[in-house]
Amino acid sequence: MDNSTVNLLGIPQGDLERMFVDMGEKPFRARQVMQWLYGRSVFELDHMTNLSVALRQELSDRVQIVLPEIQAREDAADGVIKWRLRAGGGQAIETVFIPEEGRGTLCVSSQVGCAMDCPFCATGRQGFNRNLAAAEIIGQVLIANRELGTRRISNVVFMGMGEPLANLRAVVQASDILVDDLGFGLSRRRVTVSTSGLVPQIKRLAELSNVALAVSLHAANDELRNELVPINRRHPIAELLDVCWEYAEATRSKEITFEYVMLAGVNDSETHARQLAKLLARRPAKINLIPFNTFPGADYQRSSSETVDRFRQVLVRAGIITITRKTRGDDISAACGQLAGLVNNRVRVPLGTKMHHSGAQ
Ligand code: SAH
Ligand code: SF4
Repeated sequence: MDNSTVNLLGIPQGDLERMFVDMGEKPFRARQVMQWLYGRSVFELDHMTNLSVALRQELSDRVQIVLPEIQAREDAADGVIKWRLRAGGGQAIETVFIPEEGRGTLCVSSQVGCAMDCPFCATGRQGFNRNLAAAEIIGQVLIANRELGTRRISNVVFMGMGEPLANLRAVVQASDILVDDLGFGLSRRRVTVSTSGLVPQIKRLAELSNVALAVSLHAANDELRNELVPINRRHPIAELLDVCWEYAEATRSKEITFEYVMLAGVNDSETHARQLAKLLARRPAKINLIPFNTFPGADYQRSSSETVDRFRQVLVRAGIITITRKTRGDDISAACGQLAGLVNNRVRVPLGTKMHHSGAQ
């Protein structure tokens, strides 16, 4: 796509209205265009018949409508589908659909790779190349929608490749469209942003959005978390949890979800469980235990199901709602943490540099 031309996908309603006003048009044109794009999956300006021919012409000089291209699709035995989408320069990102009883969850990527360097994560091992544009995030939803035939996506989670809060602007734009009635009309509780714990960006998110927040905790003491989630060296647990409770209050959310990957012999003892319970008991918190999913070259092993159960019991006894996440789609490497895509020109971003602010104004 010509870089000087804007992609119409991914532009939230307010920005679209301003664009039409700049063109000397009425703001309601934004509604019309969004209905075509997201309501009717019409991606050709020429087919938007309630816009005048002259307006369609003017629009085509200013904008393009570009959907991501599918490079490959894989279907798992359990109904999970993974798409590999081209991301330019020979790179690829991945998007996963997870059908469940009564709902369908789409897991979208927010970056080509990830710079956060968590050692148990296949994406982290790939390194980081670039942020995705809002159009490329919304594009994943549109592609999945088209492939699935009917509207089977009831939930969207930013749990694919990348750290969504390191790409805050595009993630907020895409979330706005997901929850907009003129977009996908999802309830804000059905759009979840998962973060490794970028504290300033969680504060900013509370100002810009009110979608559900999930936090990848993975350890209940700073020593261990520094190793498993290196961003903890900059924003330790106490600071992170404070901002989580602020987020819950500011957005009137019932709870924050804490993700905890179960790594055999690393973070899965009953002592660890008690530490975790102490941090989260009597707080607006729920816990998702994620059995570790392996990938080529991984240095960790999955905790046994008995260990996971024992760990869970400690949390349940402390009154915390704790769910063990089912492993889905692992026969096609589509489970949590297995998304690798294809990432080139890896940019190593040492902790302490300010890259996270680039997308966060
Ligand atoms: N970058 C964001 C969101 C993407 S990862 C984040 O880290 O929160 C979605 C979830 O999968 C996170 O909780 C992540 O820690 C977890 N995860 C990463 N690698 C995993 C693995 N190999 N097995 C199980 N879960 C993993
Ligand atoms: Fe990035 Fe999340 Fe993987 Fe950590 S777990 S490397 S933050 S994608």
